[in-house]
Amino acid sequence: MKKLFIDIGGTHLRSEIVSEEHTAEDMVSSQEVGLLSYIDKQATLHPDISFIGISYAGQVNNGIIAASPNINIDEYDIASVVKSRYGIPLVIDNDLNCAVRAESAYWQSDNIAALFVGTGIGAAVIDHGSLVKGSRNMAYEIGHIPYQETPFFCGCGRNNCIELFASGSGMGKWLKHFGSDHDLDLNRLKNSDIEEERLIASRFEDAFLHASGVLVTLANPEILVLGGGVIEQNPYLGTLLEEKLKRYALNASLEGLRIEMSVLKNAPLEGAKLLETQNG
Ligand SMILES: [Zn+2]
Repeated sequence: MKKLFIDIGGTHLRSEIVSEEHTAEDMVSSQEVGLLSYIDKQATLHPDISFIGISYAGQVNNGIIAASPNINIDEYDIASVVKSRYGIPLVIDNDLNCAVRAESAYWQSDNIAALFVGTGIGAAVIDHGSLVKGSRNMAYEIGHIPYQETPFFCGCGRNNCIELFASGSGMGKWLKHFGSDHDLDLNRLKNSDIEEERLIASRFEDAFLHASGVLVTLANPEILVLGGGVIEQNPYLGTLLEEKLKRYALNASLEGLRIEMSVLKNAPLEGAKLLETQNG
């Protein structure tokens, strides 16, 4: 029997088909392929899939997709449609909820917060061994905390989210606003000759520090683990947090706090592999 694990973000859909013998990896553009149509293809190619675990960059609850600022949705009621179409049990959870499960296992910590910055910025928390879910599995949607007004809109419909500053998509929106067609590499923006580009980088850093400070102050974790594509490409952000977080968080919350960089190749995908047993 095989198991299909999927990590779908704003840019890529990555998957692994895991059998006892081997693992087959795949990656496609998440802007071009819908989640259900991807599953349709895989379930047809591999009729012996016995379980599907999905890490999803959006708001999900009980197998139903509620919203996703950065992904086009081809089916909201994903778990029951796949179950009725193929008879395959499917568990889907928010990507950061998946990531923090994997990080908790890796760091062997029961009090851990994950903050990941890629296309979006997201967070999740495990408190005394339990994932903090909220009433509808939407706790710690830190990217959409009000921050400062912007001249454009977030995928969630508002124009003042942290994500509009401290994320890949946010930097892209600012570049477009300033009429720049340069790439959105944070390091390049930081050292740019153009004042507006340096401003995008400094606003990113401030919003990132703000998000981190809010997360640490509210959740009081033992470990804050940083990950996601933008963090991986800019490891200096970890040092920046070590140096400046005290200006953005309650002092007492910082006592004993460890800041770690994720070392997992793909923490959300690794967390999706835990969904079959940890979906409590
Ligand atoms: Zn938003």
